[in-house]
Amino acid sequence: MKIAKRLFALLLCALALLSSVACGGEAKPKDKPVVIATIFPQYDFIRQIAGDRVELHMLAKPGTEIHGFDPSLSEMTEILSCDLFVYVGGETDRWVDDLLKKNGRDLNAVALVDLCDTVDEECVPGMQGTAEEEPEADEHVWTSPGNAIRIVEGLTDALCALLPDEADAMRANAAAYRKELTALDADFRAVMQDAKRTTVVFAERFPFRYLCDELGLTYYAALPGCSSNEEVALSTVSFLIDRVNEEHLPGVFYIEFSDQRIANTIAKATGCETWLLHSCHNVSREDFDAGVTYLDLMRQNLIGIKKAVN
Ligand SMILES: [Zn+2]
Repeated sequence: MKIAKRLFALLLCALALLSSVACGGEAKPKDKPVVIATIFPQYDFIRQIAGDRVELHMLAKPGTEIHGFDPSLSEMTEILSCDLFVYVGGETDRWVDDLLKKNGRDLNAVALVDLCDTVDEECVPGMQGTAEEEPEADEHVWTSPGNAIRIVEGLTDALCALLPDEADAMRANAAAYRKELTALDADFRAVMQDAKRTTVVFAERFPFRYLCDELGLTYYAALPGCSSNEEVALSTVSFLIDRVNEEHLPGVFYIEFSDQRIANTIAKATGCETWLLHSCHNVSREDFDAGVTYLDLMRQNLIGIKKAVN
């Protein structure tokens, strides 16, 4: 019995060998191109456009803080050998410039900031931190639906160049996705049309410049764009408390993965509510595994903005 099994196995091996020899003249089926996205927004955009036509990886681990990211040696090797690398660009991604410079490699890379018009980070009254520092371009371009549409267009071009045979199908996916983003954009504008107020308070750092600009929102925030949640001065918190009281604001925003410390302090002092506004930098492991999308998160943000302006 054992011998029969071995013979059978041997036969299978021989068959496999024969068929591989027979196919030797033809090209092996090509592996899918490897695309690496540094963080969640572009990871999701690429997923919507390309589906499973590419082997897509997100560099940031779900649930982790992406600012101050430092790639490991193996991650650097992966990036340098991938077929398309999509990063944000700007201050947080300085390590990418260093990586490319050091290796002198011609990497097929797209930066989101190159697909949109950027504005400088702004230090509004009451905000802690950047007054004396050189203003930097705000890199959180994906936070407005209008920019998301521009980014998807640019990524579609890059993906079609990578897989020309699949271009028609991917352009069709992108067109359908664009419709959803356009609808999201229209819904945000409709909320603003009926808004009772246009001032919002972020008890937090502030990566929403592009969203606020697009919606015509006046904002106050504790800290600029990508700051770490350092010790926030009492004067910063009391400035925000005054804004909530004077403008009778119904609530303040905090962002994902926040300890909500500042938001809770303001809520306690004023009796206002606290709401999450998701900046989409990264998502929790649970959300990632459940397949949450940029559109899901932005639809939740739409509800948050609606509460804030009414
Ligand atoms: Zn950031």
